[in-house]
Amino acid sequence: MNNAVPFLDLISPHLELEEELIVVFRDALKTGRFIGGPVVDSFEKDFAAFCDAQYCIGVASGTDALRFALIAAGVRQGETVITVPNTFIATTEAISQAGASIAFVDINERTYNIDTEKLREYLETHCVKDDKTGRPINKKTKSIVSAIIPVHLYGQMADMDPITELAEKYNLIVIEDACQAHGAEYWTTKFPPSKKGGQGGFKTPPPFTGGGKGEGKNGEGAWRKAGSIGLASAFSFYPGKNLGAFGEAGAVTTNDAEIARKIRMIRDHGQSQKYYHDIEGYNGRLDALQAGILHKKLKRLSEGNEKRRQSASLYNKLLSEIDGIITPYEPDWSRAVYHLYVIRTNDRDKLQKHLTEKQIGTGLHYPLPLHLQKAYEYLGYKEGDFPVSEKVASELLSLPMFPGLSDDQQKYVATQLHKS
Ligand SMILES: *Cc1c(COP(=O)(O)O)cnc(C)c1O
Repeated sequence: MNNAVPFLDLISPHLELEEELIVVFRDALKTGRFIGGPVVDSFEKDFAAFCDAQYCIGVASGTDALRFALIAAGVRQGETVITVPNTFIATTEAISQAGASIAFVDINERTYNIDTEKLREYLETHCVKDDKTGRPINKKTKSIVSAIIPVHLYGQMADMDPITELAEKYNLIVIEDACQAHGAEYWTTKFPPSKKGGQGGFKTPPPFTGGGKGEGKNGEGAWRKAGSIGLASAFSFYPGKNLGAFGEAGAVTTNDAEIARKIRMIRDHGQSQKYYHDIEGYNGRLDALQAGILHKKLKRLSEGNEKRRQSASLYNKLLSEIDGIITPYEPDWSRAVYHLYVIRTNDRDKLQKHLTEKQIGTGLHYPLPLHLQKAYEYLGYKEGDFPVSEKVASELLSLPMFPGLSDDQQKYVATQLHKS
């Protein structure tokens, strides 16, 4: 008997859609429309609707999405952008490539997302408020802090209400890194978001997507999708993401018409019309083939997310009896979509080795926090600067997680975790 459990499955979900996906290729073959065009437009329209956002702009990758969002939102050379050390490096690459400096704030030990108390502390104690802009100035670097990128890591949204409040208080731009969180939801009591501070602001209130009240939060509120809260949000459609292309692809969502217009220009060499360039931009468009494939797969995204949630709760149950394993924490204000199912254990390396021997695929997200990476030596951070990120980096282990994961496969994983 073959007991192998892959970390993820990039084949079966596509074989199930084989005929539909081949039509996408045939359509491109017969029309010769490879970049942009109606296939891209209609995917953008439906993905915006999926996110409860007004606009979606398809781009060439999640990294482009982050970078273009920062540039379009007005982040300037020499300014500082805040994010976390426990994320994929694309988040900080985008900051540097937009010309800004990176500032890290540590994560919360239970959610693995930004610790909003530490964010407040950074803004209150490491910065002084600039009278002219209302923005914080970092005391040491004298650089103006203009934006924050909350990362919705592993498919769970960051605690957006306190972030939005701080952003309003300090006139900060919020760009969501939703690259791992297609369809994740957050219970907000700031509904509709205030238009102060340049944040999104809904022209027409978007529909409720859920209803029901989060127990930890009192009063009125609503479930909001990832990609609908910040001024703009970045999505990746890298093949392994909850919605994945057959190659590189990404998108920005926003409720701001001006940001949407700018990103359409930036992704296309700064063109306002063909060969008339208002600004210098990038080659960052979305291919029609990728858009067509994404459009077909989008119809199954909610179902796939629901299956991931079911698998997560089965894992939670199966693993709850094992000493020394911490299962993911989902606060009552969150509906996570489990891009990854990440456990924590002291004996991580031994456990991973054991699972590998038993042909169970695992991953580390991420083994070395960004502030300790060689690429960021120049920032001058040292070990001990972000203790939570550092601690969890050596304890985190991602288990197999994908929509077709079977109960038997999960039970086999749990049995092997028991035995290790
Ligand atoms: C995947 C990912 C990105 C980058 O997306 P690409 O499409 O690979 O450029 C950015 N941030 C996070 C958190 C990601 O997981």
